[in-house]
Amino acid sequence: MPNKDDRERSKEYIKINGFSHPFPILQILAISLMLVIFLLGISIIPSIIEIEAPILDLIMGFDNYFILAIITDSLLLMLSDPADPRLIDQDYYRKGEKLQFCQDCSAQVDVLSYHCKVCCRCVEEFDHHCVFLNNCIGRKNYKQFFRLLLSLITYTSTNIGMGIWLFFNLENVFRWIALSYSILSFVVFAEILSLTIFHCYISCFLYKTTLQVIKGDKINIR
Ligand SMILES: [Zn+2]
Ligand SMILES: [Zn+2]
Repeated sequence: MPNKDDRERSKEYIKINGFSHPFPILQILAISLMLVIFLLGISIIPSIIEIEAPILDLIMGFDNYFILAIITDSLLLMLSDPADPRLIDQDYYRKGEKLQFCQDCSAQVDVLSYHCKVCCRCVEEFDHHCVFLNNCIGRKNYKQFFRLLLSLITYTSTNIGMGIWLFFNLENVFRWIALSYSILSFVVFAEILSLTIFHCYISCFLYKTTLQVIKGDKINIR
């Protein structure tokens, strides 16, 4: 049975985490878009300092906290390895679990595990393969993924409001930077909000993973 190092050396390329190449174009675009939003936010700070409005100081502090949360959770999600633990430790045992055999991994894995074709490994309680994080979302990192969605919604929604307010309260070039900041934040906000509503619905009302919603309850290993 292959261990983690063996998997890295395997003839067939196996992704270990979100920093394993090749990097999908959508991951590069998502990181670039967030960097542009962060930079636009930084570039309007000089204009904000000139305005006497305590609410702006409060929003800036709020934003700084969520920027840190988004960066930390994105890095942790990209670094996480949600592979079925039996691929690393063949003696791994959890009470009452049912197993199935994956021919590609040459290992017994949990019955809810699924072989991701992009990562070439079985992922425990597979939800989906996230092209923006270049990693699978499963049992080990689903809560972290959901926390990232909530941080992105909070951060981008305050950006939208602050950008619109600054657009109407500034008279120099900063007002257009503020408007761009607001529009780009809205692009991320709309996408993340729809994704979050979908995950809330399937988790709270259907008690299913994304894979179960797409493929039905009879999920084969691949
Ligand atoms: Zn597998
Ligand atoms: Zn994957």
